[in-house]
Amino acid sequence: MSTRGPKPKVFLTYSTGFYNTDRNLVNGPPPDHFVFKVIEFFDQKYPGAKCGLDYKTHFQLLVATILSAQCTDKRVNLVTPGFFSLFPTPEKLAVASLKEVEEAIKSCGLFRSKAKNLKKTAQMLVSKYSGRVPGDVTLLRTFPGVGRKTANVIMGDAFGVPSLTIDTHMARITQRLGLTSKPNVVAIEKDLMFLVPQFRWTLFSHQMIAHGRALCLARHPYCHVCALIECPSRTQDYQESEPVPDLEFNFDSNSDPDTNIVT
Ligand code: SF4
Repeated sequence: MSTRGPKPKVFLTYSTGFYNTDRNLVNGPPPDHFVFKVIEFFDQKYPGAKCGLDYKTHFQLLVATILSAQCTDKRVNLVTPGFFSLFPTPEKLAVASLKEVEEAIKSCGLFRSKAKNLKKTAQMLVSKYSGRVPGDVTLLRTFPGVGRKTANVIMGDAFGVPSLTIDTHMARITQRLGLTSKPNVVAIEKDLMFLVPQFRWTLFSHQMIAHGRALCLARHPYCHVCALIECPSRTQDYQESEPVPDLEFNFDSNSDPDTNIVT
């Protein structure tokens, strides 16, 4: 009698190995060669994509990511130099008055709730972690104002742990490319984990966001100048008279009104 069990329902992928058939993609999983094409395209077009927030320390990145919720990176980068000169350490921020913190960040949206979160975060850093930002995604998510996306940004950029950051650009473009059919960030992240090699997760996230800012805009994707010719959402719906975007992508997020909306 054979001791072998039923054959597992898996596909072999170019990237990480296997994904199971429970993913329920509407049109089936994208072919491996297409995922490879996307990665290749990103590497050619956005080789140096990186976090759009300015920071020098883990504490600064934590503050900047909390400030970035529903606010552009550019706005945050204008606010943080003054903020860090007033509150250079968690210890200083923990004992500051709420009014002082609000004053320092008032040009950011939701500044009152962000001020509370920042102060409470600083107090937790001081009381629980000796003023150091913990390099653990579960611990990071216990800080007020730190959600899944923020924690993943910190793990990827501060601690070098490969992380996928599903923001509004990632959610939109992964669906346009047919890499997922899921509507929520947790499910999108799971689908991408199976498709993209783990060591590339952080860079892939930054490249996807770069593409969302440069060409694959929310309301008007510039498909006619996008080299991803196999994209299933490709459209020729544009006017010849419309200005062609600056194809030399720069990492300034000046015109990025919908950055960081998905948290
Ligand atoms: S072809 Fe159009 S929809 Fe597809 S990735 Fe490029 S810009 Fe976005």
